[in-house]
Amino acid sequence: MNEQTIFQLLKKTKEKALAVYSKFHVSAVLVTKSNELITGINIESSSYGLTICAERVALFKALSEGYREFDRIYIMSDLPVPCPPCGACRQVLMDYAPDIKVIMYSDNGQKDGALLKDLLPRNFPGPKS
Ligand SMILES: [Zn+2]
Repeated sequence: MNEQTIFQLLKKTKEKALAVYSKFHVSAVLVTKSNELITGINIESSSYGLTICAERVALFKALSEGYREFDRIYIMSDLPVPCPPCGACRQVLMDYAPDIKVIMYSDNGQKDGALLKDLLPRNFPGPKS
């Protein structure tokens, strides 16, 4: 799947975000080593602390379907610049996909990328450490 197709999938997926309180819409597309695409959106709760980010939704969907090996994750938000994952998502991704590449898109097509291990140096050790 090429980058333009991923970009369009991110945009389409972001429309499904349940950001009723923040109005900050985020989508993620997690790519497994077997090239499966698992999407995620942010889902907010009236009890704000129970809100979950798109990255963790995608990862938890994938894990619950039995996927264990991941290559990269794409993220898109409403911001005009690429938005990196929050600290909680970085830790959970590190727990299950420590070697993953993170590719961030803005809604208008700006792109940035980094290895997760560079986004979360000296991380708390997880099950894949
Ligand atoms: Zn997050």
